Amino acid sequence: MGRAFKILRVNLSRLCFHVTERKIIEVADVLGAMGVATNILLEEVKRESDPLGPENKLMLAPGALTGSAVVGAVKSAVISKSPLTEIYGESIFSADCGIHLKRAGYDLLVIEGRAEKPVYLFIQKGNVEFKDASNLWGMETFEAFEAIRRDLNERNVGVMGIGPAGERLVRLASIISDNGRAAARCGLGAVMGSKNLKAIACKGDNEIEAVDATSFEKVASEIKEHLMRRLDRLSRFRMLGTSGGVLIHEVEEGLPTKNWSRGSFPGAEKISGERIAEKFLVGRRTCFGCPMACQGVVELKDGPYAPLKAKRPEYESIAALGSLCMNDNLESIIKAADLCDRLGLDTISTGTVIAFAMECYGRGLLTKNETGGLEIKFGDHEVMIKLIEQIGRREGFGAILGEGVKRAAERIGRGAERFAMHVKGLELPMHSPYRYKELGLQYAVSERGACHLRGLSFLPAWGMLLPEVGIDKVVDGFSIEGKARICKILQDVCRVWDALGMCKHVVTFGGIPLTKLAALYSALVGVEFELEDLVRAGERVWILQRAFNVKMGIRRKDDTLPKRFLEEPLPDGVARGQIVELEPMLKEYYELRGLDEDGKPRIEKLKELGIEHVISLI
Ligand code: SF4
Repeated sequence: MGRAFKILRVNLSRLCFHVTERKIIEVADVLGAMGVATNILLEEVKRESDPLGPENKLMLAPGALTGSAVVGAVKSAVISKSPLTEIYGESIFSADCGIHLKRAGYDLLVIEGRAEKPVYLFIQKGNVEFKDASNLWGMETFEAFEAIRRDLNERNVGVMGIGPAGERLVRLASIISDNGRAAARCGLGAVMGSKNLKAIACKGDNEIEAVDATSFEKVASEIKEHLMRRLDRLSRFRMLGTSGGVLIHEVEEGLPTKNWSRGSFPGAEKISGERIAEKFLVGRRTCFGCPMACQGVVELKDGPYAPLKAKRPEYESIAALGSLCMNDNLESIIKAADLCDRLGLDTISTGTVIAFAMECYGRGLLTKNETGGLEIKFGDHEVMIKLIEQIGRREGFGAILGEGVKRAAERIGRGAERFAMHVKGLELPMHSPYRYKELGLQYAVSERGACHLRGLSFLPAWGMLLPEVGIDKVVDGFSIEGKARICKILQDVCRVWDALGMCKHVVTFGGIPLTKLAALYSALVGVEFELEDLVRAGERVWILQRAFNVKMGIRRKDDTLPKRFLEEPLPDGVARGQIVELEPMLKEYYELRGLDEDGKPRIEKLKELGIEHVISLI
């Protein structure tokens, strides 16, 4: 009954592949590919395994619903041991490659080993070709993707790959999709580079089969109708995308400014999404089958960074390369974000490490002698562009910054660690934990290091409630009361959304009920999943990922925040005077999460979730 869950294993050392099959019901309790991939990491990757060695695994895990007719089911996760954090590494993007992989009949791609020479993979139903990529090595991302399409003589193919940064093992390297979306976080592009793997091209045309196809189609139609009825109310988001967040953050949330030492940016208006729309927006784009179409295309026709046609930068990129660096030159932000995509760099981490260097330079912790003659001052966008080139090509002072802010601070020494804004080695996203204390807790305990997307714990403070899971009251973002509970519940819910492959903009702004997703998942796997079962599966996946981190050596002392948040009251902005009171929230959270005083999942919790196999692994 129904189809099998298929894992495609590719060994680059031996240039061979094989497929293993499991019954889809056997992997339903861990939500399919994401949970299976986590178990593979837990069982096959050791604490001493070098993330950039052939023993590391690089996995592409499309969501359980990805590639189906469900609106917003577009996401795929790249999962590996991160070279940036050396713990669980995951980055999720709307990659057409993941959709094609599913449609070629594979639920999970596992890549191991290391090719002797640069290669790219061409995956179709029943076959994997190992293609010579020597002539692509050194190319920027989009240039390489075009060359691959020409080489394959194929337009209907999804391609993802790395730029020079990944090839040169820069720890901030991203993986870019041919539709411009990025699996940017955790340095997973460097894992691809370490395997001599330039790109993956997939082609698949099959429909995704559900065990109960009739129910599946019915619920998918209901979800689409539900979203279409709301589209008018979402016109601002649809027009501005996440870039519309700049002014909202400035006015209501505290725009991260000057390497997080300020909470308000005088140049916010100049770098706003509204300004982008007014001056540079020339088109809109969407992900596979999504009516929201929140992506934009911008064009610079004159000025020092013209001519340039590029993807509209997301809010995170604008803040990281703008306010965080005190840069109010919008054209330079568009240029910098595009350059990051072409070189294959994470815009958040790149902006953060440059802001860190600017602060160190301003405080005299760095001199021109150490920076190769560069004066790295806040607000200097020309220096920022030079540094991005250096980071992406692992040259000059950029080679140090490309190691990530934690390693760069250790290298610089002299107290620079205090200005390195990261959790567990991952640079912070652009959402203020001063304004939402629950976000401070979430950053401290998130599986991949500081992450706003694995929890969205600020939703209740925004007034976006999820009564289905007991999040039924608007809360005060400045308070710490009840925040551990909110954080835990929303982390589990986010694992569900992520593992199913649902875009969080669609499910949150579109108000897609979780019960509908439970009905869809039940129809997909052929077994009844009530809402509680689904959220419990999300919790199971979270605990598995925590278990991997414990195996990698993570303990309670690592669940913390940069000292700046804990000790330095913010001097301005809406969160003026605030610090994050982490410890009481953390204590409560540990109880609710079932972690012991050392940060390990309790044995009773593992038994309760039916994952006792973890006990012998950690
Ligand atoms: S809401 Fe935006 S990011 Fe999400 S699927 Fe639609 S177009 Fe893509």
